Amino acid sequence: MIDPWTSSEIDDYKQTMKDFGISLFRLDKLPEDPVPPRLFREGIVFGERGFDPVLERMRSREPFAVMSGLMPSGRMHLGHKMVIDQMMYFQEFGCRVFIGIADLESYATRDVPLDRARDIAIGSYVKNYLALGLGRKGLEIYFQSKRLQVKDLALTLGRKVNLSTMRAIYGFNEQTNMAHMMAPLVQAGDILHPQLKLGPMPVVVPVGIDQDPHIRLCRDLSQSFRVFNVLSVPEGGLGIFVKPDSDVEGLLVLARERIAKLGYLEFKMIKSYKALYVRGATRSDTGRIDSELSYLEHELGHNGFISPSSTYHRFIRGLTGEKMSSSKPETAIFLDDDPDEACRKLKRALTGGRDTAEEQRVKGGDPGRCSVFETMLFHTVQDTAEIERISSECRSGQRLCGGCKKEACEHLSAFLADLAQKRDMNAHLVDEYVMED
Ligand code: SF4
Repeated sequence: MIDPWTSSEIDDYKQTMKDFGISLFRLDKLPEDPVPPRLFREGIVFGERGFDPVLERMRSREPFAVMSGLMPSGRMHLGHKMVIDQMMYFQEFGCRVFIGIADLESYATRDVPLDRARDIAIGSYVKNYLALGLGRKGLEIYFQSKRLQVKDLALTLGRKVNLSTMRAIYGFNEQTNMAHMMAPLVQAGDILHPQLKLGPMPVVVPVGIDQDPHIRLCRDLSQSFRVFNVLSVPEGGLGIFVKPDSDVEGLLVLARERIAKLGYLEFKMIKSYKALYVRGATRSDTGRIDSELSYLEHELGHNGFISPSSTYHRFIRGLTGEKMSSSKPETAIFLDDDPDEACRKLKRALTGGRDTAEEQRVKGGDPGRCSVFETMLFHTVQDTAEIERISSECRSGQRLCGGCKKEACEHLSAFLADLAQKRDMNAHLVDEYVMED
């Protein structure tokens, strides 16, 4: 079981992926233009669930959306920035971006009052998002507590899940308060509500692997509200199955007409099985057929939710070697840190260096397990030639950690000073992108 609220570290990513059916993220499938950011190229984004529909939209430059949540507790640090970097990459493809400020969840699970959550969300997060460059056409930031559509949807979704399932996914027990139990349903409402506004649409949710329980629940819930189910069948091809018991034949006929437009011509309908078999369709056609049926359901007055997709990123190493955490300031560089304070932390950070300078000169260091190098690689050094030079100098022993930290500190100071300036310059955009309903 993964607990999304304890922020526990994952020891074995491969095993976790296997246990929960997460697929490996294929960098080679991404469009070449624009070049994917380092988070993708360096394997920080390592996994995905149901990403193909989004990938198709990225390639064809057709509409899709990105959904993310913001937990308003603590200060924003470099670890949080990784999600923003991913969203900004997706923005290059013209997608819509929704960010839900999880004020109801922070109240339910961390006892943060709503007005305090608002101050934290705007002051510590939204202003940094805008300073980093997320403020573009199609961005919408809202509060869970104010968006009626999300709350209504949470309640509606709750009709399709029972306590046993919630216990199995989240480990809830007799002491868990009811607001906490509702929080995952509100999250599912967050993730699915863009499709209430925009109609059926691929939506990707970039998350740390600790948030996977929410994705699994939400994908199951989205399917439970569907009229059609598309499955591979043992005899080959795909089967389209109707869930309701009324007007089964009418629905199967509509599905056949719709799917025929995609170019599939051989069908076999067995009404007693509530099934339409599509000959010649393969497992890789599932997403395409399922999406088409979503549009049909929507036209018939249903939600037709397309199951949300997710990408998974590793937690980058904190400065002390453990996970970056707002509650442990020594582990993290905060985006509003004073540069002197940030450099003080960087100078104490765990590196991939050797025990002595002499040993390092002979054997070289290991940037692959160095938090100082990761800070430069993922946040402060954009120039590829420069980052390659740093890496190779470290490995060859030409570079020692003292001097390297000094250089990293210069990069970090410049980054933080620039960000502070942009926070001030972009503060007026808060009202433009934060919705009050
Ligand atoms: Fe890290 Fe720099 Fe030391 Fe290499 S030289 S281990 S990159 S601090």
